[in-house]
Order: sequence, then C-alpha cells, then structure tokens
Amino acid sequence: MKIALYQVDGLSCRREKLTSLTLDLSMKVGHLRQEISNKFNFNLHIFQLYTMRMNQKIMMTDAWPLSFFLTDPKPFILLQTHAHEDSPSIQVEKLLASAVTCIKNNDIRGLESVWDKALVLDQNLINETYVNGWTLLHYSCYYGRESFVEILINQMWNCNQETEDGWTPLILACTHMNIGCVKLLLGHQSIQINKLTSRGTALHRAVELGDTEIVKLLLDNRACCIIEDNCGRIPLQLARNPEIIEMIPVYMGQWELEKYGVNPQTLPFIGELLLTRSLYLHDKIVQLKINLENGMLEEYDKVHGTISGTASFRYKLMDIQQVKESPSSAFSTKKYFNFEIYYNKCERKYSTKNKDYRNEWICQLTNAIHYCQINKIGIDNDNMAFEEYEIEEDEDPQIDVRKSFEDTEKEMISLACFEIIEEIGSGSFGTVHMVKKIDTGGIFAMKSLGKKQLKRQGKLKYAITECRLMKQLKHPYILAFYYAFQNAQNLYMVMEYCSEGDLENLLEVRGLICEHEARFYLAEIILALEYLHDNNILYRDLKPANVLLDSKGHIKLADFGIAKENVTKPETSATLVGSPIYMPPEVLKHQAVGKPSDLYSLGVMMYELLVGAPPYYSDDIEELFRTIKTGKLEIPDILSVEARDLIKKLMEKDPKKRLSIRDIKLHPFFKKIDWSALLSRKYKSPNRQRCSFYSAEEVKLDLRELDRL
Ligand code: ATP
Repeated sequence: MKIALYQVDGLSCRREKLTSLTLDLSMKVGHLRQEISNKFNFNLHIFQLYTMRMNQKIMMTDAWPLSFFLTDPKPFILLQTHAHEDSPSIQVEKLLASAVTCIKNNDIRGLESVWDKALVLDQNLINETYVNGWTLLHYSCYYGRESFVEILINQMWNCNQETEDGWTPLILACTHMNIGCVKLLLGHQSIQINKLTSRGTALHRAVELGDTEIVKLLLDNRACCIIEDNCGRIPLQLARNPEIIEMIPVYMGQWELEKYGVNPQTLPFIGELLLTRSLYLHDKIVQLKINLENGMLEEYDKVHGTISGTASFRYKLMDIQQVKESPSSAFSTKKYFNFEIYYNKCERKYSTKNKDYRNEWICQLTNAIHYCQINKIGIDNDNMAFEEYEIEEDEDPQIDVRKSFEDTEKEMISLACFEIIEEIGSGSFGTVHMVKKIDTGGIFAMKSLGKKQLKRQGKLKYAITECRLMKQLKHPYILAFYYAFQNAQNLYMVMEYCSEGDLENLLEVRGLICEHEARFYLAEIILALEYLHDNNILYRDLKPANVLLDSKGHIKLADFGIAKENVTKPETSATLVGSPIYMPPEVLKHQAVGKPSDLYSLGVMMYELLVGAPPYYSDDIEELFRTIKTGKLEIPDILSVEARDLIKKLMEKDPKKRLSIRDIKLHPFFKKIDWSALLSRKYKSPNRQRCSFYSAEEVKLDLRELDRL
C-alpha cells in the first residue's frame, strides 16, 4: 500500500512531505522506524512516528504492526523529530527504554543500575511516561513482574494513572491475568478499583477473560458490578465462564441485602485543613468539603475566622487520580501530617496536626471517588470543562416546567403513545431513543432527561430553554420538534429522527472532510445560523456533535440548551458557556458576546472539518484558553486559498472585524452556491451514500454540476 510520509517540525508543527512509501501493513512499526532511520540518517531516539485517528494524533508504537494504526482508507504517517540527542528528554527516554528492557527481562539488578544513572542526571523515572503514556508500573503489570510492582508502588506511585490507550496498571494486570500484580495493586491504599477507561473497568476485563480467581478477588474488594463500559455493557454481559455468571449475581445480591441494614453515606464530609504551598509562608487554613450531591470537592477560604460563601477551588471527585499521604514540608519545623490530591494537571497538598484526622480524610476521599464513579455523579463528558468553568445562575422562577413540557396539541401525548425501538445514544443528562408513535407508525427521536439530575446540577433551565425554543423554530436545517411531556422522573422531548448520525461521527470515520462536501454542510449551517440571528437568537454551542445528518444527508442543527434569546446587540456575560475548543476569545475575556461569536465557532468547525483536528488544542484548559485568546492561527496550506481566507476571517480574534453572515455568503469559498436553491433544499447532498432515498422525480441540483457552471 502506498503511504505518504510527512515530516513535522515539533516546534512550528509545519508538515512537509518527505516521500511516499510502499509498505506491507503487516510490517512492525519498529522495523519501519529502523528503515527510515537508515534511509534518512535519523538517530532512532530522536524521532517518532504518528498518525491521525479520530482526530487525535496517535503515536505508533514499535511492537505493533502498521495495520493496527493505519486503518483509514487514505492513511498517512507523520514523522516528528524531538530534540537533540543529548537533551534531557532524550536521555530520560533512553533510560526509560533501558528500564523497560530490564522489566521485560526480569532483570532487577539492571533496573537498579538504570535507576542510579537517572539519579546522577537528577531524574526520577518514577513519574516519567514512555510511549503512549505508559509508566514503568504499566510495563511491570503487563509483563507480570510482581517484584517490580512491589518496589514501584511502595514508592507511592500513582497507581491509577491512565495511559493514552486507556490502560491503568490494574486493568493491565487483570487483562494479562497477572494475579500477583492484581493482589499487590489492590493492597495499595489509593487504588481506584472501579476506575473506568475506554477499556471499561478492571472487572469488565477480568470477567471477559473468564479468570475466576481474579474476578473473585475484585469482587471481594468491592469492585462495582453495575458500571457500564463505553458500549453500555455491565461486566456480567461480557461473561462466558459459567462459574463467573453464577458468582456475580451472588455478590450483587449480598450487597443489595446489606443496603437494608445500612444507609448509604451521602452526607457531605467537611473539615478544616492547612493548605500547604511550596513555600511555608503561603500556607493557609481552608475548609474542605466532599460534596456527594454534585460530585465535587470544594475548598473554601477562611477570612477573619469566617468561611467564605463561595468555593475558591472546585474539582470533580471523579477526576481525582490519586490521594496519598506525603512527607512533611521541608520548611515546617512543626510535626504535621500531610496528604496530597492529584488531579490531571495539578496537585494540592493539605496538612493537619492529627494523624488519625489525616487518615480519615484519605479514607473519606477514596470512598467518595468510588461512590461518584459507581453512581456516575459528575461523570466526564463532552462538556466537562464547560461545567467546571460555568458560573451557575439561579433558576429563573418565571419559567414553569409544566408550561414548557405540556403538549399544546389537542391529542394527549404521553410515554404510552410510543414504542421504544432502540437506544441511539446518551448525553450528560439523559438518553435519546428511536421511537415509533403507535397510532401513526411515525419514527421519531425521543430525548428523556432525568429531572432529579437536572435539578441537582442546576441545569433544568437549559432543558426548558431548549424545549421552548425548539417548539418555535421552523427551518429546513434545524431539527424539527414535535412533542414535549413529562412524568414523575423525566422530561421527554420528541423530535425529528436523524438516521445518519452527526458530523462528529462522520469526522471520526473519515478523519477529515473534503472541501467539496464540507462546503455543502457549512452552507446549510450558515442558513440555519442566519435564521437564528434574524430572530435574535444566539446558538452558542456550534460544534460537529450538534450538527445531525438526516436520511438524505442534509444537516439539522440540534441541542439548543444554551441558546440565548432576545439578543439584539452584543452583551457581556459572566457565564462561560459552550465547549472549550469552540469558544471565541471574547467569551473567555468576558467581553461583549453577540452574533459574531457564533461565527467564530463556525470558523473553528470549518477548520476541524477540513484539517481533521481543531485549530487550538491542549489537555490543559488554561493553556487552551490562552492560545484561543492570544495564539497565532496556523492554517495548513493543503487547504485552498479561499478556504484559508474564510477560516482566517471567521476566526478573527476581534469580533468587530469578523465577517458577517452577509459577507460570508458572498465569500469566494461559496461562489458556486445558489443560496435560495439551498434554502429550498434543492441541492443533493454530496455524500452520495446518504442520498439513495431520492426518487427519480425529485429534481435536485448536484453541487458538482454547479461547480461546472
Ligand atoms: P450532551 O447532552 O452532553 O451535550 P450529546 O449532545 O451527545 O451530549 P444528546 O443530545 O442527549 O447528547 O444526544 C445523545 C446522542 O443521540 C448523540 O449521539 C446524538 O447524535 C444522538 N441524537 C440526538 N438527537 C438525535 C436525533 N434527533 N436523531 C438521531 N440521533 C440523535
């Protein structure tokens, strides 16, 4: 197979085509790296190979065949050089490579000597990650090296760390049936037995592999049996071993019985602690609260002996990676007992003079993390960062749920009027099902939203806005809304069913979308936005996941939860809403937000569709916001001049200088579009597979025909 090889400059991220290679996909990546190293005279240690999958840059690891990574119809390889051979990062990488070899060969002496070499270089390999974010603990669990695991976890390793490919040490040990390693990990004070990754939980893997002993061990340690993996399966659904099929319900039954004796502990756990900073001088007393209602750990400042009303620091309990005791501060002469909480990107250290009190905090936090995982409180989702950064407003007392969710049609609509056909997917607050209306046989999408959850998280107002707004909107490229009703538990919204998924799915499958096809979707989105703006509605959540595709491949804008009505001129808002990568700079700067803000998100989306990755991205939200506000926009020159120019003008940081919808429609990128024909849905979707439903009589213009005009 012919595959293009591009060289990427690590600093400027510029791509340059090196060559085209004809490769046998069964070849190992390591072998290819060796060949590239020989051919281009690169030292093996200073470059890595990557490819793009699901919009993510994936490192191609040496041990796997190319076919494992190059699954796209038109795959390509990126060669990225890191740095000079004698730079510290390369030296650490070399040391890690040697340490991994020692683990593989069970050579404990060898590891000690690598360790010593690292210390000479003032490096501690314990927290270093190697290929795909694997630590030495991951390798030890993979190869089943108990003695290594013991040494590593005794050094207070973050034993729950997740690799880029979804492995935690425990999931690895269970998958490779290394029971000794599983036992050691379960004995660690901060193990998160129920940690859920893209591979499910440790119990999912052990049950699937049918290892009775490991499954029993996990259940004895209270592994949760009702956590669903990415495909919505609980562990029992993966079981084939009859012994395990019998075992799980017995444990579940026992735990169910226990519930009648003991009330689940959902009260908050609150207490004062000393927040310890790097310098002793900056330590301060704070009140820490484990809030199981909203799944947050909240920190309140104590000013003149009084606790402040709003939390100065909040973090999702679900996102805590590790809680562990830690040695006393070097600056402190007093005897303090410390513990540290590790989040993805930061850590926080607290002290107390009482050892039991410190231990109680570690225990309460560990239990709270498990509780939130099991009950899915504060579970990660698309809008994670948005939730974290959003400043809550009070519910608007004027808006009555009943008014919005009471159907105005004469016919009485309730759940009984529909037959559920299948689940389509679920979002942060509910599930979407494909349903059939029993009397007419019509097919719809029905979104059910849990009232309790919406209320608890202060999101009821979004559901009400969505319902009220969608009832009024009538446009060929906006999702049609039919009925709304409620029962004691849920609010239900019945909408037009879009059988072809959304633009996010399309991007996942294709990697990127060609200009010809993207132009079509973007033009339809522009008409939908124009309609909203003409009605003084800001959409505020434009992203591929919210653009659905109907059976004929036309777009349907969905998800109006955070849309804002009656916006006649730009307004300032204290609320950060939307999904971080699509947020315009003025939103992040709390400046006036108006119609141009939606057009900035359109620019981000256009970039993402055409390039296959968003223009600005970082796992660190602060860094992401910084680049959105001040970063330079780099647009790959593989895009046409017109596309580049339009993206640049849409992503203009100053909203006053951004193109208006009128200007966009006149831009050369859209010169072939007849906007009134598009509005009357006369164009046929260029995604031909999605167009098989057109009858011969339907006169549809094909974009390609128009291109020829
Ligand atoms: P969140 O609510 O957290 O933003 P979301 O937008 O993915 O997440 P939902 O709007 O509840 O959540 O949608 C869940 C899934 O159902 C998504 O995959 C979405 O594409 C799909 N979906 C939503 N509405 C429809 C519809 N009318 N027709 C077909 N699929 C739909």
